[in-house]
Amino acid sequence: MHVFKFGGASVKDAQGVRNVAGIIRQQDPKQLLVVISAMGETTNALEQLTWAYLRQQPDVHSLWQDIRAKHEQVINELSGSNPAIFEPVFELFVDIEATLSQEPDAYSPPDRIYDQLVSFGELLSTRIVNAYLNQSGLDSYWVDARRLIRTDDSYREGKVDWDQTCEYITDTLAELLDTSVVITQGFVGSTDEGNTTTLGRDGSDYTAAIFAYCLDAESVTIWKDVPGVLNADPRWFDETVKIDQLTYQDAIELAYYGATVIHPKTIKPLQNKEIPLYVRSFLKPEEPGTVIGNFEKRLPIPSFIFKMNQTLISLHPKDFSFIAEENLSKIFGQFAEYGIKINLMQNTAISFSVVVDNQPERLARLLPQLQEDFRISYNEGLELITIRHYDEKTIDRVLVNKKLLVEQKSRYTVQLVVKDLG
Ligand code: ASP
Ligand code: MG
Repeated sequence: MHVFKFGGASVKDAQGVRNVAGIIRQQDPKQLLVVISAMGETTNALEQLTWAYLRQQPDVHSLWQDIRAKHEQVINELSGSNPAIFEPVFELFVDIEATLSQEPDAYSPPDRIYDQLVSFGELLSTRIVNAYLNQSGLDSYWVDARRLIRTDDSYREGKVDWDQTCEYITDTLAELLDTSVVITQGFVGSTDEGNTTTLGRDGSDYTAAIFAYCLDAESVTIWKDVPGVLNADPRWFDETVKIDQLTYQDAIELAYYGATVIHPKTIKPLQNKEIPLYVRSFLKPEEPGTVIGNFEKRLPIPSFIFKMNQTLISLHPKDFSFIAEENLSKIFGQFAEYGIKINLMQNTAISFSVVVDNQPERLARLLPQLQEDFRISYNEGLELITIRHYDEKTIDRVLVNKKLLVEQKSRYTVQLVVKDLG
């Protein structure tokens, strides 16, 4: 069987849904599972709505009406002679409105309420695509991924229980896949108690990998608005090159360091079962895109990842201690406690430097803790450039007009922390 994943950009409007349906129609409907994200910017809008709801702000109603109106517009454009086929979407509207009309449950952690509301984006988009496919004569079956993906109760970052999940997935889908296309949601799961969870922002790619792993898929295809995996983000780089073939290892490294084309957790499960991952353009579905798999050859050209808005924090022990095991374990413990991911680290005998995404709220809580033991220096507004399979020429090229603050090289990867000189 095969797994397709369509991201939010592919279903952002009625035309997008028609295009996605067209791509699905080209396939053998049997043995095809389609994972879909929320439409366009819906997840961001639902996040906004959630914060407003939790604070009981007056704009809850208007924020929700905007989201509802966007979905209704898509339905209006898509619906043919039998609009009742879209009824399940309206039922979801009723569910959300019922939640919003009540005050937030004081006993529920905010992150749990977040998951409960934000997951509606995927429920809505999959209901719409499912209805449209059925209306246009292609029988498809809508499955609630929350019933299949079992996670712990780490809301907003649910950890998957692989054994349970694979059991539910194979039990539920094995036969269904013999009869019709199955449509399901990315990003969502649920706990043993039946509370909705989400897998972390951009988690739909990961969902596709979970289904593929459990069903021993022959392939996964992620349909994107780019022609495949590029060697740099076209937003920051003029001359990008599409990579035809990529090893799992290179793909993991690129994703981990921040290439946004694939969610970093996606690759490992596929690698473990040697399931190839295709990254293709939904705008040019006839083109082959990139395939990630078990190849001999590593990346043929240097690849660049730029992370903007980085903060460099350097810690110097206040006492006479060196930066050694005890200090390090304390430092790491504190970063983990405040949920701050370290993008790069470097130490000398008496200082320890880290580069992190600028997250003012979390840092404001962490820094006072660290200040008990360390003198801290702090540098904001930096860029972190990672080059995989670098050479000196490419390093020189990216350093033009930049001040280099930290450089770290390993055999295949160099990381440069720089300040843009303008
Ligand atoms: N809709 C979710 C998000 O925007 C998940 C995804 O698109 O992958 O984060
Ligand atoms: Mg998205």
